[in-house]
Amino acid sequence: MKKKRRSAKRIIGGILFIAAFIVFAYISCSVAVHSSDLENCEDTYLYRVYGYDRNRYLRNHDRADEVEDDYSVSDETGEVVALPAAAPAAAVVPETVPVPSDPEPTVEPTPEPTPAPTRAELNAAALGLPAPPDIDINDWQYILVNGEHPLDPPDYAPANLVYLNMTGDDTDIRTGYDGNRQVVDALIAQPLIDMTQACKAAGLPVYLSSGYRSYSEQAANFKRVCENNGISDGKNYDGYYITMPAGCSEHQTALCCDITDYYHQIKNDAIAEVATVQWLMEHCSDYGFILRFPTDKREITQVMGESWHFRYVGLEAAKYMTENNLCLEEFVALYNT
Ligand SMILES: [Zn+2]
Repeated sequence: MKKKRRSAKRIIGGILFIAAFIVFAYISCSVAVHSSDLENCEDTYLYRVYGYDRNRYLRNHDRADEVEDDYSVSDETGEVVALPAAAPAAAVVPETVPVPSDPEPTVEPTPEPTPAPTRAELNAAALGLPAPPDIDINDWQYILVNGEHPLDPPDYAPANLVYLNMTGDDTDIRTGYDGNRQVVDALIAQPLIDMTQACKAAGLPVYLSSGYRSYSEQAANFKRVCENNGISDGKNYDGYYITMPAGCSEHQTALCCDITDYYHQIKNDAIAEVATVQWLMEHCSDYGFILRFPTDKREITQVMGESWHFRYVGLEAAKYMTENNLCLEEFVALYNT
């Protein structure tokens, strides 16, 4: 009996062991992930459950070309990471929606038409000069008077003459006749006083030696100089004017003045070295005056150098002519040629 019981126990134990082994085997087969499953399974969720990744698997098996687009290798760690699902583009809602105002018709800005260059600008450019002042060359201060351009009429006389103190000690401008004063056109009286006062303020004596001369006065002056020099046309042996025929002198316009040092009144070449005249030549353009007959321009002016003869042309022209070394004939030619 004891043997039968023992055998029965062994049989039952064996059956139980076999049953337990079958149950264990079944569970193991159900849970284990096989490579064949990974290759074929499309459910990446399943791989994550098992701590695995299909793309990593494919790369590790030289099948990177099968990696799906929604997985990528992290640049930083080399890990294969899932790209975030492409979210639908969120509509941007502005905090305040601008209310379009009444649409104004779009007007294309009309570019300012570039004005055609003036004749003076073209002439200046041809000479390599900057654009000259935008002026009316026929204004009074640009009048050109020389041996070839007499006044019209020849006995022209300015309408408004005034009288200035010859040494610039007084700054008043007198309109009544005063034989002890110098005469100029009223239009240039103030700038002439300003210039002479500035010169005196620099410590230099001033003498207004000759302003306006009438036609008859110029005729008498011309006759005297010619007789004294044994000439008849007012020109020296070099062919340059040393006195102008009546009607051809700037002094008849009253827009100029001979200016010297009170202590050096003789008008000759030496006057160019006098401090007063040097100051005037350097600063006259600041007051609208030019040295009318520079020695180096006498072939154009036909007048020998006169370092004492200052002519009013206005600030713009005086600056331009001085900066570009032009005499009045050259300046006027820019506008009239
Ligand atoms: Zn003069």
